[in-house]
Amino acid sequence: MNESALVRALATPAQSPGGGIGRGAEPPSEVWVIAETARGELHEGSLEAACEARGVAQALRARLAAVLLGVNGSTSVAGLAAHGVDRIYWLEDPALAGYHPEVFAAALVPLIVTHRPSAIFLADTPNGQDLAARLAARLKARLVSRCSRVQVKSDGLLEMERPVYGGRFGQTLVAPSGTLILVTLLRGAIGLDRPDPSRQAELIHLTPVLEGLASHLRVLGEHRMDPQAIPLSEAEVIVAGGKGVGSRERWQMIEALAGALGGAVAGSRMAVDAGWIARERMVGQTGVAVKPRVYVAAGISGASQHLAGMKESKTIIAINQDRRAPIFTVANLGVVGDLGRILPPLVERLREFARPEGA
Ligand SMILES: Cc1cc2nc3c(=O)[nH]c(=O)nc-3n(C[C@H](O)[C@H](O)[C@H](O)COP(=O)(O)OP(=O)(O)OC[C@H]3O[C@@H](n4cnc5c(N)ncnc54)[C@H](O)[C@@H]3O)c2cc1C
Repeated sequence: MNESALVRALATPAQSPGGGIGRGAEPPSEVWVIAETARGELHEGSLEAACEARGVAQALRARLAAVLLGVNGSTSVAGLAAHGVDRIYWLEDPALAGYHPEVFAAALVPLIVTHRPSAIFLADTPNGQDLAARLAARLKARLVSRCSRVQVKSDGLLEMERPVYGGRFGQTLVAPSGTLILVTLLRGAIGLDRPDPSRQAELIHLTPVLEGLASHLRVLGEHRMDPQAIPLSEAEVIVAGGKGVGSRERWQMIEALAGALGGAVAGSRMAVDAGWIARERMVGQTGVAVKPRVYVAAGISGASQHLAGMKESKTIIAINQDRRAPIFTVANLGVVGDLGRILPPLVERLREFARPEGA
């Protein structure tokens, strides 16, 4: 199909049979990942989604395809190909340069209706959640959000696992056959496979038809969030303090370390009870369950209720003056000592690293 024919096809979405857009008895031909980018950079969650989707595509003997939206995507193309994507539909239009729910949905819905993938994966980011819900509603498709694992059962049905009640329970869901299923994948749940830079993907450039779109939303600007205010479930680096910090004044050491690392601040129950940090930033069994790349626990003993919320973090760094503190049983790196003597010089060194040379 040449490009103008495809653009026409995109402009006139076909009605899906039975409300969903599955292929019924036909074998599925594609599993999709909708790639999320910001300022030309591919979100790592999209690569994780591609890794998980690749296993699903292989089990279904389907092609793994990704959809890229926007104008600045060359590095994303290489990244997706290196992580196993066979084909990339690149919807190029300046209107898709930044995330806009209605414009993205308007560009994607006709493409999905035309190609009828059997499953669509998105990273479980705020934009991914928003877009997935919008697409599911528009396509009358099923959506399972916050998945930690997706696999194909022996009978060919998709099985999804997701944590519920802050990670204290797991839920397994099975999707019925013949209908489109959208899945959002939790960050860090799957991890990245080793990329193969020699892999290439078939690249299909498309121009979506977006003129005349009656949008009710206008994006006025984008703001980088203060990393310390980022929801803990999304933070890549978390610096958590406990009772061992000692006082509200000394709590500034925790905030300074988080600032130097570009991380979010969290606390133990004791830190919350002392009034040093808000209740919604408490990590643990009754707090938030987190799984960042780096979790620094300073002055936290490592009670089981705290460990329940953070022990899945990729790298745990514990600072405690008691070498027998249980936090060291889960730490990848342990520093025994007084945090009042360790944190200030550490922050100073980190700031030195961040300073441009000669400044
Ligand atoms: C039902 C239930 C649910 C709970 N849910 C949670 C939860 O979700 N999250 C949670 O965090 N807790 C929870 N708790 C509380 C939990 O049991 C612990 O009491 C709490 O986690 C302890 O907090 P902490 O480690 O800050 O304090 P502590 O246990 O008092 O530990 C302080 C640590 O700081 C060290 N320290 C002291 N001074 C220094 C210093 N100068 N330098 C370095 N180290 C120092 C000490 O050696 C000690 O290990 C729950 C409890 C119950 C019963």
